[in-house]
Amino acid sequence: MTDPIETQVRGRWITEAVPDRRFPETAMDPVAAMRLIDEELVLDGIPERNLATFVTTWMEPEAQRVISENLHRNFIDHAEYPQTAEIEQRCIRMLADLFNAPGETTGARTQGSSEAIMLGALSLKWKWRERREAAGESTDRPNLVFGGDVHVVWEKFCRYFDVEPRIVPLQPDKYTIGPADVEPHVDENTIGVAAVLGTTFTGHADDITGINDFLVGLRDERGIDVPLHVDGASGGFVWPFLYPHYEWDFRLEQVRSINVSGHKFGLVYPGVGWLIFRERADLADDLVFYENYLGKTDATFTLNFSTGSAMVLAQYYNLIRLGRDGYAFVMRAMQTNARFLADRIHEIGRFEIIGGDDDRLPLVAFNFAENAPYDEFDIAWQVAAERGWMLPAYTMPPNADKVKMLRALVKLNLTHPLVGTLADDIANACETLDKKGGLSESERKRVKTNTGF
Ligand SMILES: *Cc1c(COP(=O)(O)O)cnc(C)c1O
Repeated sequence: MTDPIETQVRGRWITEAVPDRRFPETAMDPVAAMRLIDEELVLDGIPERNLATFVTTWMEPEAQRVISENLHRNFIDHAEYPQTAEIEQRCIRMLADLFNAPGETTGARTQGSSEAIMLGALSLKWKWRERREAAGESTDRPNLVFGGDVHVVWEKFCRYFDVEPRIVPLQPDKYTIGPADVEPHVDENTIGVAAVLGTTFTGHADDITGINDFLVGLRDERGIDVPLHVDGASGGFVWPFLYPHYEWDFRLEQVRSINVSGHKFGLVYPGVGWLIFRERADLADDLVFYENYLGKTDATFTLNFSTGSAMVLAQYYNLIRLGRDGYAFVMRAMQTNARFLADRIHEIGRFEIIGGDDDRLPLVAFNFAENAPYDEFDIAWQVAAERGWMLPAYTMPPNADKVKMLRALVKLNLTHPLVGTLADDIANACETLDKKGGLSESERKRVKTNTGF
């Protein structure tokens, strides 16, 4: 017999290895299983100190309650949960309104922007094929045009779905793209152009207005109708509130679809994204499947099937709880703190802030103003070692890949006092590095380099 205290309070793994390879033969006490997991997770980073992620790490207790009470509701089961389906549709309508859709439209709840982009880009491909077939033209060489400042999902789409990626390279001092960059790459086989609102690298927007104007001209003068998709994964919830006069959405004629991550500045925990079309006709009919497995004929447009409803309900909670005023308040608060952080980092006297006064996401991207005896990766390592901050260092995409960058997201939970502490910690890390020099090779290999989460 095992000791009841050992089993219930700590579990056998206090002195034994945890189950990790073989499917366990026997059951475990529920408290013991819970503790085992809790104790292992202390090895992870603390989400509140994660300055790398764009994804929400804090929600109100009331939202958490909505989430925890609805974990058992399968989102795809529209026949049994028609009200959840209705709430999804409300979110789509509200986002279409936020993005200035001209009338009735359609869209989809997705797992995140990655799924939304896959679906949106598939629709671009299908619509392009329809146009080409109607004109009696070949359909074997589709291409998609985007800048090197996009998220990895765009290249992933091209590889998975057999589309030629035409990637506009960046330049050492130019981190977004505009119409002149796009022009040489676009032709009659271009299924679409993708532009980013809020890049993961520096938080800026491509020149979406300029790209739209170019595409309108191409359509009117040469008869080539190339749609524009806006990747608003982060920016879709930021620009409408901080920069409402900048036209990047359905106010522009060639913008046919937009994706946004509910779990980034939509302020919901991970697991929700949105794809919104300009009008119903922008969704290719052939991509919608009709089935009646679950008791009622239902139309689905998704790469997944069963999934949770909780984050959709949490998104609706935020939309109605905050409204335009509330989102504007939150975005301004983050922007204020981002400016404060930029000022404090600037005061350290060694760093250059990238595009500080431009319209952009609430983040600070910065690097060394002059050559220092150590680099951005050393800083990332040092603030992690001294304070546990997860501050990512990375190199920019080609052809700006000689440029190294540090980036801190300023989310709602990075409050004014914490911003001050973070800036002090960066200054202290510089002082430590002045004394001890940069990283060893083995330390350098372990520095976090992720940029796009
Ligand atoms: C985060 C991000 C994505 C991917 O979004 P997920 O919601 O993580 O799938 C795509 N594009 C941009 C610009 C992003 O910032």
